[in-house]
Amino acid sequence: MTPEEFRQWGHQLIDWLADYQQQIEQYPVRSALKPGEFRASLPAHAPEAPESFQAILDDLNNKILPGITHWQSPNFFAFFPSNASGYSVLGELVAAGLSVQGMLWETSPACTELETHVLDWLVTLLGLPARFRSDGLGGGVIQDSASSALLCALIAARERCTGFNSRLQGSDNRLVLYASTEAHSSLEKAAVIAGIGLNQVRRIGVDKNHTLRVDELQRTLAADRAAGLMPFMVVATLGTTSSLSCDSLPALSALCLHEKLWLHVDAAMAGSAALCPEYRHIHEGLEGADSYCFNPHKWLLTNFDCDCFYVADRAALTRALSVAPAYLDNPASESGSVIDYRDWQIPLGRRFRALKLWFVLRGFGAEGLRQNIRHGIALAQRWGKIIESDSNFELACPVAFNLICFRHHKGDAFNQQLKNALNDSGKMYLSHTVLDGRYTLRLCVGQSTVQAHHTDAAWNLIVQTAQKQSEAL
Ligand code: PLP
Repeated sequence: MTPEEFRQWGHQLIDWLADYQQQIEQYPVRSALKPGEFRASLPAHAPEAPESFQAILDDLNNKILPGITHWQSPNFFAFFPSNASGYSVLGELVAAGLSVQGMLWETSPACTELETHVLDWLVTLLGLPARFRSDGLGGGVIQDSASSALLCALIAARERCTGFNSRLQGSDNRLVLYASTEAHSSLEKAAVIAGIGLNQVRRIGVDKNHTLRVDELQRTLAADRAAGLMPFMVVATLGTTSSLSCDSLPALSALCLHEKLWLHVDAAMAGSAALCPEYRHIHEGLEGADSYCFNPHKWLLTNFDCDCFYVADRAALTRALSVAPAYLDNPASESGSVIDYRDWQIPLGRRFRALKLWFVLRGFGAEGLRQNIRHGIALAQRWGKIIESDSNFELACPVAFNLICFRHHKGDAFNQQLKNALNDSGKMYLSHTVLDGRYTLRLCVGQSTVQAHHTDAAWNLIVQTAQKQSEAL
């Protein structure tokens, strides 16, 4: 493709994406394809001869779009929002076009320094502790996901606890880590990858607000120590997946400092809310945390992937993860005056993700991003009140931030059937969880395009579908 052809097709592709944004509501929210149906539409072999770009574009319309679940539809209420704002997509395009590999400072100084700078901006914007800033002992890095951030934190915690000996001798089978029963499942995955047996992952019970019971944690820690085990890490959640509950950071910080445990805080979605001063209190107690992460790719109008991961002591992280083959030697790294982000993550290579975040922060300004957070929360609160006033339904817990957890009174099987019918309709998409042992429907309101008329229409559909289902019983 020559630069001229790239210009021509690039313009056409941007037009295609802009049309997609404008027409998104015409598609069924969840793809209606059956397993294998999409592959069956593809040729068995890759083309030998080049195909025209027009043929590729045609297949985007005819083949790819029917197989898409439209995460950016204003009628998408499942899981968490996926907001690919225009700024973010264009920043991503520049990153792809420049095709920078930012593994070392030297391989693109702007890639490293923009990332450091933008993550320092976010420390201030979110009211994070100054110890996470890069001008002290800490700093931030962009990971692909909260799962990777947790894995990196876990490895650093393991090394700090074992005097950086696990690097040499493998993981000590006495190591134990702790999180609530509501913490994300990436905990088990990280433990498996890091060689911490699943038997050494302690899931601590939660109270009626679905937050970690600190008294139970204390008792479990004491029992583990008495049994000769080595507690090394606690993972707290600000905004659990099921109900967006927030663990008590002040209590956990104090406990972890006293017990010399690494405290990692997972604020995957809810962390973005701290951009608004009225929600910044969620970060109280974070001064005692060793690491923290949140996902702009959930609620900060930035497309996947983008997780901001902070550590208070970057040396612990880089000492844990650094390996230095001769072929990467270079004067800047040897001078010790630059950051080489390869030592802050699992892979060596890395994309220029800071560009899209920089585009987003500049394009919207903090105030624009706050507006989107407040908009989602206001709509969720409004919807929660409507649900509360319907005697056939109940809220499973108070509406937290932009998440509504609710159930029909007719029990688990009824709710499951209701969810399937709603998603099969193509008119909306919601997900579920299990809360207090009961099947619970989950509506997350965060798309930048969602308006009250969308939530009202979705609620009418839920009520009507439940009514029909009741009559058919
Ligand atoms: N932590 C929490 C609280 C989550 O809700 C999620 C995903 O939904 C994750 C972690 C995992 O996020 P990621 O896909 O960025 O690994």
